This record gives sequence, C-alpha cells and structure tokens, in this order.
Amino acid sequence: SSRCYSSEPSLQAKEGNGFKGHGMLAPFTAGWQSSDLHPLLIERSEGAYVYDSNGNKYIDALAGLWCTALGGNEPRLVKAATRQLNKLPFYHSFWNRTTQPSLDLAKEILGIYTARKMGKVFFTNSGSEANDSQVKLVWYYNNAMGRPNKKKFIARSRSYHGSTLMSASLSGLTNLHQKFDLPAPFVFHTDCPHYWRFHLPDETEEDFSTRLANNLENLILKEGPETIAAFIAEPVIGAGGVIPPPKTYFEKIQAVLKKYDILFIADEVITAFGRLGTMFGCDMYNIKPDLVSLAKALSSAYMPIGAILVSPEITDVIYSQSNKLGSFAHGFTYSGHPVSCAVAIEALKIYNERNITEHVNKVAPRFQEGIKAFSGSPIVGEIRGLGLMLGTEFVDNKSPNDPFPAEWGVGSIFGVECQMRGMLVRANADNIMLALPH
Ligand code: PMP
Repeated sequence: SSRCYSSEPSLQAKEGNGFKGHGMLAPFTAGWQSSDLHPLLIERSEGAYVYDSNGNKYIDALAGLWCTALGGNEPRLVKAATRQLNKLPFYHSFWNRTTQPSLDLAKEILGIYTARKMGKVFFTNSGSEANDSQVKLVWYYNNAMGRPNKKKFIARSRSYHGSTLMSASLSGLTNLHQKFDLPAPFVFHTDCPHYWRFHLPDETEEDFSTRLANNLENLILKEGPETIAAFIAEPVIGAGGVIPPPKTYFEKIQAVLKKYDILFIADEVITAFGRLGTMFGCDMYNIKPDLVSLAKALSSAYMPIGAILVSPEITDVIYSQSNKLGSFAHGFTYSGHPVSCAVAIEALKIYNERNITEHVNKVAPRFQEGIKAFSGSPIVGEIRGLGLMLGTEFVDNKSPNDPFPAEWGVGSIFGVECQMRGMLVRANADNIMLALPH
C-alpha cells in the first residue's frame, strides 16, 4: 500500500551532508525512522480528513495532535488570520504595550471558563510553555507569600504535560526522562489513576480512589506539606493512554490538597473546549483549580497559542505586592501574538455558535459505542474514553497482568495497520489513542 512507510532512494543523502534522510531532526521520531523510511508527507486537509503527497486520504483520528477541533479547512479561521495579518501582523505585549486581539481573547477566555471564577490570563505559544510558566508563576507566588520553601511539585505517572525542561519533568512518561537527566529533583510523581490496570482484587473504583488519595497524602507528609507547592493533573490523561479518572477520584484528591494548602493546576490542554462533552474537563469532574493550562483547541491549532488562567487569589497577591515585586519578569516575544489571538477569538465564537458541547454529546455515543463494540477481541484488554477521546489497551488473555512483550510493539503495529487502511491514530507500545475533530 502506498499508505505504508517506504524506503525511498531519493531521500538518501540528498543534501550531501553525510546523513541519510531529510534535513529535519524530527520530534518524537527515532533517528533510524527518519533515515531509513520516507516520512508520511501530509499535504492538505479537509474536514476530518487529511491527504498525503500521493493523494491518499486518511481519517485524521487524532485531530492532528489532539488539537484541530474544527477540522482541516475552516474558512472563518483562515479569514480571521488574514484579516489580522493585513492589519497588524505582529506587536508584542511587554512593558504595558499590547494589541486589541490579546485583550479581547483574555476577556473571552475569562468569560467562557465557568468551572470557577478566574482572575487573569497569561499567553504562551504552546502547552509546554504554559506548564513551564505555571511552575515559574507558582514559585513567584510563593516567594511573594513569604514561603520560599514551598516549591515542590507533585504530578502523576503516565501524565503528559509537555517536553520542555519543566513540563517534561512534570510529565510521568519515562521516555521523556531517560536520556535527558530528568525529572528535576523538585518534581515527584504519584499514582496513575488507571483503575483497570492498577486496582487490587475486589477493590471498587471508589476504594481505589481512596487508596490513591491516601498515597498522595502520605507522599505530602513524607516530603513535608510546607515544601509542596502544587499538584498538576490532566482531567483525563491523554497521551499516557486516554485514562479517565475513577469515580470520586478528583473529589478525594482535592480534599487532600486543600488540607495542606497545595495549589491545583488543571492541565486542560487536551480536554478544554468540548472534547469530553463539557466545555472544560474541570466542569466534567467538578474540579476547582487554582491555575489552568490551555492550548491546542484554543485556536483549533490553526495558529500556535497557549494560555494559563490564574485564580483571583493568586492574582491579588501578585498585584497587591507589585510595588515590591517589580515587573513580572516572564514572557515570550509571541505571548499574545495578535494573529494567534484573532484566530482563537474566532474559534471560541464558532464553538459558541455551534453549541459545541451539545454537538459532541450528540456524536460521541456513536463513536464510543462503535469502537467499544470491539471489546470482545482476545487482544483487547480495555477500551476506555468519553466524549471524542478514546484509548484501546492491547494485552494477552484480556488481563492487565499479561502485557505483550515490549519488543513485539503491538500498539505500534496496530498504528501502522491503521495507517495502511486510511486512519491516523496515536500508538504507544501497548495501546492506541483516538481523538476526533469535533
Ligand atoms: N499538556 C497536555 C495535556 C498535552 O497533551 C500536551 C501536548 N500533547 C501538552 C501539555 C504540551 O503541549 P505542546 O505540545 O503544545 O507543548
């Protein structure tokens, strides 16, 4: 099949630089892959489909990288970008200078986020930068609060929070740590809340959640509550395998964090803007975070943009002490880029006009039930998910205790097979993940 990866002599040492393959050091790609295999070259997109350079059509079943919520060719987003490019392609937001689209987008986001009241929005270019900014903001806040020792972070195994130094440290996937001398020593990882894989015999979901909350409390007590600044979690774990929380999990976790005055950072980079059938993951699980990270569907990925939402309490501390603190010396050239903001404003308008959560709730059952119909397969241990995201676990004997040998790469083989049949998914060693455009 021309949809399969192929080895093409034309790729070899074309640039005369002594290396086989193309000139790009490709993200999350092994050297041998980009040296020996032709990359899948995506050329254009249309709705939920993308087309490669040979004209093959694929269902884009990961919405790019969990991000093109409005699909591949929404003309209103293109128009919003070109309108802004023609008017003002760039100005920054440093030193109390800024642009109207940045101000308008901040206002829009504060209006749309109703899981709790938020105070301010800080703009980044990506989810990783958002989570890096969270770490610095939390440190800045605790310094302003006069508690310089409250600096450690707790994240969870199998979480994904990005690939920069801080965000990769927060992430709980070992391939992001090994060979990179990470995680940073101030980051600790607590249990992955995957009931199917980790529950004890006869343990209910509620009891499993209680045990995990107890483990979190024990970790806090061991490290010293006065040293733990914040806990970060995706409402539904995404890249780690699409893992929705077990019943009562977030209720119990939040109670522990509150007890020890530890901030909750909700990483909504994947779950925001309707993916779960609620506008935000925090709405789905009654999470009342202090800080929120956004990216991806914020602009439906047509332009890079991320954001963090800051609670009124944290904002108050920073603003009331600004004479002492001086400027908030953190930011990026492209923080609040006017073209990205203009596109994001249009995306939010479209979500609102199309009542995106109602739409997701209408189409999600067909998607979920359609795929879950394969649960009986002898190599499928669990199919799990909600809204427009779903993960499928491959094991022997349908048991979490019988993984296939890692070197078989069952998930990866499945991913390639999907590609050959015209569907692009995300594959891990033992699972595949899907996240459809809305
Ligand atoms: N947080 C989560 C939950 C993510 O899924 C991702 C990206 N997959 C990130 C953060 C990092 O975002 P980015 O790739 O834009 O840096």
